[in-house]
Amino acid sequence: KAKQDGKNRYHFFASEIEEILLARNALDRDLRIALDESEFAVAYQPKVDARSGRIVGLEALLRWCRADGVQVSPADFIPLAEETGMIVQIGSFVLDQVCRDLVELTAAGCAMRISMNISGKEFQEEGFATRIAAALDAGGIAPALLELEITEGTLMGDIERSRANLLQLKRTGVSISIDDFGTGYSSLSYLKNFPIDVLKIDQSFVRDMLSNTQDASIISAIIHLANSLQIALVAEGVEQEGQAAALAAMGCSTMQGYLYARPMPLTLLWPLLKAGRVPAR
Ligand code: C2E
Ligand code: MG
Ligand code: MG
Ligand code: MG
Repeated sequence: KAKQDGKNRYHFFASEIEEILLARNALDRDLRIALDESEFAVAYQPKVDARSGRIVGLEALLRWCRADGVQVSPADFIPLAEETGMIVQIGSFVLDQVCRDLVELTAAGCAMRISMNISGKEFQEEGFATRIAAALDAGGIAPALLELEITEGTLMGDIERSRANLLQLKRTGVSISIDDFGTGYSSLSYLKNFPIDVLKIDQSFVRDMLSNTQDASIISAIIHLANSLQIALVAEGVEQEGQAAALAAMGCSTMQGYLYARPMPLTLLWPLLKAGRVPAR
């Protein structure tokens, strides 16, 4: 009986694995179709100076609208795309779109820096920096207009290689930011050895900062750290006036979050870009 139970459990487990693998294969296939059928698009979310309301930059965020009209969150497909390596093609789509949009923004007199998210696979890819430089060059785009958002996890694997990759990227003239700062398992000493321009304070600290003194303390520590290392700051996920006020009082005045603007297609963003600012609340 016991043996039979064990066997049943085993079968149950195997069929669950099979289910997961089938779902992954289906997602993998759908991602390939999505690339071929142009189901991907790039949305942009403004980064805003809290004092003046001026838009100081944009973050490119990938959007996938399936043929059946369903929007799939990047959080639900980027991890698999990273595993299968398809993130390289997807990332290349994002880079091309961002470059086209930078050209359009510049032509319209609204030139501003755009950041894009880079996965570990792309960052480690041989020739990544060369590809970035070539894309900028082809569009006649000033490299200072592009910023690459990289997470701590991506940098921590092979420190020496990461440092070499970062230096190579910096030589092309782009800026580097650390995304979701404070959530990865990383040593702070890399901040002094890596050429980092911006720290993005993770939204998990911002969310409860008004009620949770530990979150507020962590934010305060990050702000001091960045200021003393002369690294710029952006607070992510700012949804409330009170959060913005507290962040500004602590010394971080660049905000990104639903309080100011949601990620939007460029077509909807033009009025804000022409005005140079988000609407007063
Ligand atoms: P992320 O880079 O940390 O992006 C911030 C996420 O927070 C975005 O989610 C954004 O829409 C969301 N967000 C912005 N403001 C607020 C707010 O006030 N409140 C809340 N609750 N959320 C806010 P999204 O667009 O779903 O992207 C999720 C993650 O997927 C990104 O996190 C990034 O890690 C990844 N991702 C997105 N686009 C790309 C891409 O083109 N390439 C790669 N490799 N990863 C991407
Ligand atoms: Mg990001
Ligand atoms: Mg983030
Ligand atoms: Mg994130």
